Amino acid sequence: QAKRKGKSDYVHFSPEMSEISHERLQLESRLRRALQQEEFELFYQPIVNTSNGNLLAAEALLRWNNPEIGQVMPDRFIPLAEETGLITAIGEWVIQQACQNAVTWKNQLGRDIGISVNVSPRQFRAAGFVTSVMNALSTSGLAAEFLELEITERLILDNSIETAQILQELDEHGVRLSVDDFGTGYSALSFLKRFPFDTLKIDKSFVQDVLKDPDDAVLVSAIINMAHSMGLRLIAEGVEEEEQVQFLQEAGCDCAQGYFYSRPLPAIEFSQWLDSYTSH
Ligand code: C2E
Ligand code: MG
Ligand code: MG
Ligand code: MG
Repeated sequence: QAKRKGKSDYVHFSPEMSEISHERLQLESRLRRALQQEEFELFYQPIVNTSNGNLLAAEALLRWNNPEIGQVMPDRFIPLAEETGLITAIGEWVIQQACQNAVTWKNQLGRDIGISVNVSPRQFRAAGFVTSVMNALSTSGLAAEFLELEITERLILDNSIETAQILQELDEHGVRLSVDDFGTGYSALSFLKRFPFDTLKIDKSFVQDVLKDPDDAVLVSAIINMAHSMGLRLIAEGVEEEEQVQFLQEAGCDCAQGYFYSRPLPAIEFSQWLDSYTSH
């Protein structure tokens, strides 16, 4: 990563650097057209109760299908969407689409199912964010309590009054709030008390080594106990093996998500997964 240079320094551009920036510009111009050209798609991954296997919710995960470059994963385009501000419009589309799908599955299942949506910092702070969330709920007919917004610790770190206000407003509307990738940020744990969070999602980097690394096992157990004592719900991310589920169950972790249950699936396949999962 290039360090920011002082005014007196000048930067030598190597051919590799100009290639990188050309690639970036090309990606950016494609990203600008993506929404209008309907190139985005939401995949869904089930969130399951570890003790009885009941399906609780699904997390919406964004995919970008570009005719020239194929499927682009969020880690490659979300940061760019953040930098350019495109995330506001893209994120709005994501929330609308996710709410609509949640209503479809509710009808299919005959019972309510929650939907989790990732929200990035710039999208969260953009003017009218709360209004756009409320619009998505009223247009789709989804009750607020079935929508959960996933926010990373990074967002809370800014300590701003606006962040606190938006979180509070969303909470007052009945929308659920979760901390994503918990344990990877640097936040003081006191933020959990100060803000109206409902759920902690333990980052997959801890879950993945829980059987191999005693330190991670201790850490995960400690997070679970702490979260419970604060009345928070827990979701373990990145669960791939049955032994991990057993560990989590014994440690008292309510919910899990990961390839062990299912990979993220396109909406139609998720709906088929629902049918076969809930019929046995
Ligand atoms: P995240 O919210 O922490 O999502 C979980 C990621 O872990 C997803 O990657 C998911 O596919 C992956 N995953 C799930 N189960 C397993 C498992 O068992 N093993 C492993 N190794 N990985 C697993 P994905 O879909 O590539 O998304 C990456 C990140 O991009 C997300 O992390 C989230 O931060 C961001 N993202 C995705 N969709 C959106 C969106 O609509 N808006 C925003 N702002 N960010 C999004
Ligand atoms: Mg997430
Ligand atoms: Mg609440
Ligand atoms: Mg995560």
